[in-house]
Amino acid sequence: MVDLRSQYEKIKGEIDGGIREVLESCAFVKGDKVTLFQEHMAQYLGVCHVVAVGNGSDALTIALMALGLQAGDEVITPAFSFVSAVEAISLLGLKPVLVDVEYDTMNVSVDSVMQAITERTRAIVPVHLFGQNADMEPLLRLARERGIYVVEDACQSIGASYTFSDGKTAMSGCMGDIGCTSFFPSKNLGCYGDGGALFTNDDALAAKIRSIANHGMSERYHYDRVGVNSRLDSIQAAVLDAKLPHLDGYAEARRRAAAYYDTALKGVGGIVLPTKAPYSTHVFHQYTVKTEGIDREAVRRRLAERGVPTMVYYPIPLHLQKAYEPLGYHAGDFPVAERLAASVMSLPMHTELDEVQLKYISDALTEAVAM
Ligand SMILES: *Cc1c(COP(=O)(O)O)cnc(C)c1O
Repeated sequence: MVDLRSQYEKIKGEIDGGIREVLESCAFVKGDKVTLFQEHMAQYLGVCHVVAVGNGSDALTIALMALGLQAGDEVITPAFSFVSAVEAISLLGLKPVLVDVEYDTMNVSVDSVMQAITERTRAIVPVHLFGQNADMEPLLRLARERGIYVVEDACQSIGASYTFSDGKTAMSGCMGDIGCTSFFPSKNLGCYGDGGALFTNDDALAAKIRSIANHGMSERYHYDRVGVNSRLDSIQAAVLDAKLPHLDGYAEARRRAAAYYDTALKGVGGIVLPTKAPYSTHVFHQYTVKTEGIDREAVRRRLAERGVPTMVYYPIPLHLQKAYEPLGYHAGDFPVAERLAASVMSLPMHTELDEVQLKYISDALTEAVAM
């Protein structure tokens, strides 16, 4: 599914050099490398503040803490997604309100969000799934009109850009009040361990986020609020700082691989190719097809026999997960999420796929479907 080794080999000098500098400085935590990376990331995104933290899930938790929500406040997030958003909302004693997604883009449905808003709704956490932005313009309008915060889960979409109807563009994670990302190794900008970051243009929120991520501290050993300990270490910052200049090139390589799949798999019966939304670029964290009228698991087995891995992101929607049973949802509540969970399949997608591999995978899938 990914090939981190080949990617590393190509920039080994830059990575090893950065790590060696950290080793020689012995500034393993809160070193200059972290500050430098945060600055470079902010420049890249065109956002005022980047606060690096321990991982993407922490970033979401810290974001919701920084908004000062009260226990029982409702936070809306899609039912078809990775678990982190609903987990963060739950951990803080807030009430997750799940909503359905669009079949085409697999991202949160703005209509469903609108219908889920109540007097107690304080925040919306859209997830830019698989590398494509959710439709932020109507979401932001909806939220602004009602004084609701927007926290973007940009863990899969770093580097994707969104185009508003007036032609202005913004980077994924930089449109709402706070954006969150993950630097988990397999993400589009991955480090060699755990890492994450929050983005914001709001100076006051940025100060709060920095404080919360550091035990709620203002000045040394003065605690203004309850916080957590979540930080990116300097070695990871060195890896990320070395990889950041390559991020757009990596996105281009992913797009080339996606374009190959698009062409090779066009017209293959039972396989629905990813939909590209007009308002967003796609950085293809995943290349996720939908199967229709074919036995997904049989196709996956045939592919596995030929050495082609596939993954199902995500096989069970969040409202049907055991941990979230107390929320009181039932099968049938979010039909699109349920349909997607039963039909999606992600193909190998990374920066190092060559034409031989892409042809092998596409041929194998074409044959597996025809069998
Ligand atoms: C990876 C991911 C996260 C969590 O990131 P971690 O760094 O693993 O905590 C959250 N949301 C989405 C959509 C993700 O893909």
